[in-house]
Amino acid sequence: MITVKGLEKKFGQLRVLRGVDFQIDRGEVAVVIGPSGCGKSTFLRCLNLLEDPTAGQIEIGERRLEFGSGTKVSDAQRATFRSKTGMVFQNFNLFPHMTVRENVMSGPYLNGRLNRTDAAARADRLLARVGLSERAEQMPGQISGGQAQRVAIARALALEPEVMLFDEPTSALDPELVGEVLDVMKVLAEEGTTMVVVTHEMSFARDVATKVVFMDEGRVGEMGPPDQVLDAPSSPRLQTFLSKVVH
Ligand code: ADP
Ligand code: MG
Repeated sequence: MITVKGLEKKFGQLRVLRGVDFQIDRGEVAVVIGPSGCGKSTFLRCLNLLEDPTAGQIEIGERRLEFGSGTKVSDAQRATFRSKTGMVFQNFNLFPHMTVRENVMSGPYLNGRLNRTDAAARADRLLARVGLSERAEQMPGQISGGQAQRVAIARALALEPEVMLFDEPTSALDPELVGEVLDVMKVLAEEGTTMVVVTHEMSFARDVATKVVFMDEGRVGEMGPPDQVLDAPSSPRLQTFLSKVVH
């Protein structure tokens, strides 16, 4: 489903991604862990082409892009590639001046894939799926953070992506709101959604992940099933990292 080879990203002199190799099959859930600043967000942003990688290769479905050696990604390539991935951010990033329903319908409506009526119908179906039918007419400022994140998930799903990317989706939430967002993500996983999730929720990693990826200094340090990576880490750096996170 996604194959990444030798992915590099530099910001000026700073080498943030230093040759990431990563692979995920359809229906898998990869949980990405690693110390702050190791490049987790940059990796997700490169998968979504919110950042242009400096070198390497990304394959999503049948599409493949190569980076570096002077080749530029065209706007058309970027649009096609981006439409295959749905992104959910730490801070929800809902449009504050639109209702909940308008937030969810905006993607397929604005890109011309659906007319207004069909986009609204799809939005209502997705809001029901994340348990927020009764909030459709409200503004983002009137709902809780947990609800806002569930709207953001519905909004990402509205474009029918092949892969959902989550960047610390619960880390901006009050603790009592974390569960409702993780529950929605668990259901998506059970339904077979391919997901890449950056999170420090170790119980989610244990229960839901098919593989756990430990990122360290811009590379994949370890990757494997949760019990292997979390319970029998082979590198001292992963052992140290795990001893510091609560699980
Ligand atoms: P993580 O999500 O693992 O905490 P990030 O991918 O956000 O790490 O950041 C990795 C490194 O890249 C950090 O040192 C960060 O300061 C740097 N970085 C991220 N985005 C940019 C940017 N747009 N410009 C310059 N440096 C950046
Ligand atoms: Mg980050």
